This record gives sequence, C-alpha cells and structure tokens, in this order.
Amino acid sequence: MKHALLKLTLGLVLSAPVLAHAAAQAAESYSIVLNQYGLAVVSDVKVYQHMVKHDAKKEMLDLSSTIPDIKLQIVYATDQHFVKQKMYSQPKAYLRKVAAEALKKAQAELKSKGLSFKVWDAYRPYAVTERMWALVKDDRYVADPSHGSKHNRGCAVDLTIVNAKTGAELKMPTPYLDFTPKAYHANTKLSKEVLANRALLRRTMEKYGFLAYNEEWWHYNYAEWGNYELMNLSFEQLQTLKQPL
Ligand SMILES: [Zn+2]
Repeated sequence: MKHALLKLTLGLVLSAPVLAHAAAQAAESYSIVLNQYGLAVVSDVKVYQHMVKHDAKKEMLDLSSTIPDIKLQIVYATDQHFVKQKMYSQPKAYLRKVAAEALKKAQAELKSKGLSFKVWDAYRPYAVTERMWALVKDDRYVADPSHGSKHNRGCAVDLTIVNAKTGAELKMPTPYLDFTPKAYHANTKLSKEVLANRALLRRTMEKYGFLAYNEEWWHYNYAEWGNYELMNLSFEQLQTLKQPL
C-alpha cells in the first residue's frame, strides 16, 4: 500500500507565543508516515522529544513519580480482564504533563478527605489498541484503531476512588470494564451511596479539567485532548527518556 507522507513542521503545531521561539531555532521538519487509516501516530522518539522541547505540556509523565501517593492497579498488565491476555509489558501509568499535573491537584483534594484515586489505565501505546482490536473487533469494548483512543494521546484515565489508608474501593455502579448500560452516567437506579460516590468522582475530575464519558463511569478525558497527538512509544522507550532534548 502506498503511504502518504505528512510533512510535520514542528513550528506549525505550536501555539503562537512559542512559535517565535521555535522559529528562532534551526528550522526542523519531520516526516510521519501516515498509517493504514491515514492517521499520524508519533512512534519516533526523536519526534516526540522535539515536540516536548517546543511544548513542555506534551511530556509523558509516570504517575508513580508525579503523584507518589496515587494507587495503581494496571489491569492490562495482567490477563485478568475481558481480553484475557497481557496487553502491557509493565504496570505503568503515564499521562501528558498537563493532565498529570491536573490529576495531582485532584488527588490532593481527595487526600484531604482521607481518600485517593486508584488508576486502572492511562496512556495506552497505539500498538496495544491495534492488538486489542485484532482480538475483539467490537467498538463497544475496545477503541477502533481507525480513530485511535484518547488513551493513545496520553489524555485519558480510567480510575476510581479508594480509602487512602486501606485501599478499599468506594462502591461504584459496576466493576471496572463492565460495558453494560449499568456503567452509563444515565443509570440512576443506584443506591444513594453509589450515586454520591460516582458524583464525587465526577465533580472532582471536572473541577480539574477532565470530562466524563457517558458510557463508562470510570473513564475521564482531559478536556484539551485534541492538542495532543496519537502516540506509539512503548513504556520502555518512555522510561529511558529521562531528559527531553
Ligand atoms: Zn478508558
């Protein structure tokens, strides 16, 4: 198949104030080969590093370092989920700096109430979305790679609230990854306790710039996700990048 080439001149994707700074540097342009769906997916470490150099908000941060007290249970690093295969090489949760810092503020608010977030999933490399699609091929359960997922942009997080001391989950409408209408925000046939817990999660996330997703009470998108590219860097690649160029 013939692949079209997208010439991506970094200056063109920058916001106006940064543009002058970028223009003052040697003009650098990169080519991203569009994939079979016509999507530009960043899979080159150098392209990512230069994007971060020109827009620090794009850096992918490891939540275990950025928010040391957050709890992680990265389900896709196990086979204990509906795909029944280990999809992640490591139990890692990365988000773009802008989203990670927003989540850090939200976590501080929960901690003041003796609570904490528990993250089930955050950044998902695009190749994992492709693997999931090959196994499931149903967009009720997994993202269609012809669109990509906001998880691929480092701008989506699946999470719940737990007791900060014991780690016990607050009662929510369904278990994680229950893709029935019971998980929809429109489901109000729930106990007062569950309604209050779901509302606390939503209120806390929305206060810090995240948007709820109607069909999954656990999924939140960072509102400005459209500014962040689809990514296909592995957790191992991200771990080796201590310093952007
Ligand atoms: Zn999600």
